[in-house]
Amino acid sequence: MSDDSAQRLLGWFRSTARELPWRTPFPRDPYAVLVSEVMAQQTQLERVVPAFRGFLERFPSVQVLAAAEVADVLRAFSGLGYYRRARLLHRAACGITERGAWPTTFEGLQALPGFGPYTAAAVTAFAFGGSEPPVDGNVARVTARLGALPLKLGSGPLLQQGRLLADALFADAGTPQVWEALMELGATVCTPSRPRCGLCPLASDCAGLRAGTPTAFPLARTQRARERQRWAVLWLERPDGSVLLRRVDHGPLLAGLWLPPFAVLAEGASARDAARDLARQSGFDPPLTQAATVKHSITHRDIRVLPFVGATPDTRVGEAREGSSWQQPLTPAVGVSSLLAKLARACAGHKAPRLPAEREE
Ligand code: SF4
Repeated sequence: MSDDSAQRLLGWFRSTARELPWRTPFPRDPYAVLVSEVMAQQTQLERVVPAFRGFLERFPSVQVLAAAEVADVLRAFSGLGYYRRARLLHRAACGITERGAWPTTFEGLQALPGFGPYTAAAVTAFAFGGSEPPVDGNVARVTARLGALPLKLGSGPLLQQGRLLADALFADAGTPQVWEALMELGATVCTPSRPRCGLCPLASDCAGLRAGTPTAFPLARTQRARERQRWAVLWLERPDGSVLLRRVDHGPLLAGLWLPPFAVLAEGASARDAARDLARQSGFDPPLTQAATVKHSITHRDIRVLPFVGATPDTRVGEAREGSSWQQPLTPAVGVSSLLAKLARACAGHKAPRLPAEREE
C-alpha cells in the first residue's frame, strides 16, 4: 500500500457510497449498528433496507426488543432467511438490558450472548470509537487480492491479514469510515467472481491485478457437502384463501417459524401418502392434488418440496391443535419462512379437488 491509499479509498467512498439508512455520522447509535450488521449478514441489501426500517419501527430500542416475544422478532425477520440471527439479536438485546447499559469495548461486547467477534468489532468501531476493525468476508477478499495472498477464505491467517490492512488504513485515515469504505469496495467493486478493477481506487496497489489473476485470491474454502432432502407439504386452504400453518417446534433453523404441515421424506417414501397422513393428523381427509415442486435451500440443505393442495370449508380444522393457525399466505400475521411465499406461488390458481357436495335432506 502507498502513502495515499487510505485517502484514495476514502475519496472513492465519499463520492460513490450507497445511501443506507444506518449510514449516519459517527458516532452512530449502537442499536442501529447492531441491527444493520446482523441483518446484512448473507442477505442482499435491497431486502435488508426495508426490513431494517420496519424492524426499528416495531422495536425502536434495545429495551423494547429485549421485552418482545421471540416469535415477534422472528416475524420481523420474515423473508430474510437465516433466522438464527433473529434469535441471536434478541439474546444480545436481553444481555444488554440485563447489564443495564451497553459495554463500550470490544471485549465487553463479545462477552455478551449473541455477539460474535465481527458484530462486536462493528458496534464498538462505529458507535464507540473502538480500535478493533470489523473484518467481514468482503474485507478478507479485498485483502487477499491486494496482497495476492494464497490464503483460504474464512481462515485465521487471512482474518489476521485483514486486520493488519484495516489497521494500516486507519492509521493513515484516522476515521472508522475507512473500514466501511473497505467493506463497500468488496461489496460493490471487488466482488467475488467479477471484480471491476477499472473502477477500483486501490488498483495501483493490487498485486492480484498485477499478476493478472485477481479472482485466484483468496483460495476457496472447503465446501461442506450439501444434503438433499424431499419434503411433502400439506397446503390446506379455506374458502377465504387462508392456509393452515403450524409452528415448527424442532430444529435449530426453523424452530419458532410457521409453515404448512410438512414431513421430511425417507428414501423411497411416498410424498402423497405423507401428505395424506398430515391431513388426517389435522382432523381432515380431503382429496389432494399435487402442485408444482418448489426448490428451497436452508444452509447446506437442498430441498425438493412437494406440495399437495386440498380445500376445506371447515374453519375448525387444525385449530384444536396448539401451534396451529390459519393465515393468508402472502400477508401472514406470524413469523414465516420465505418458503411460504414460494409455496403460495406454486399453489396459486392450482385447483384444489372439489369436495363431494353435501346431500340435501
Ligand atoms: S484492483 Fe481489482 S482485484 Fe484488486 S482490489 Fe481492486 S477490484 Fe479487487
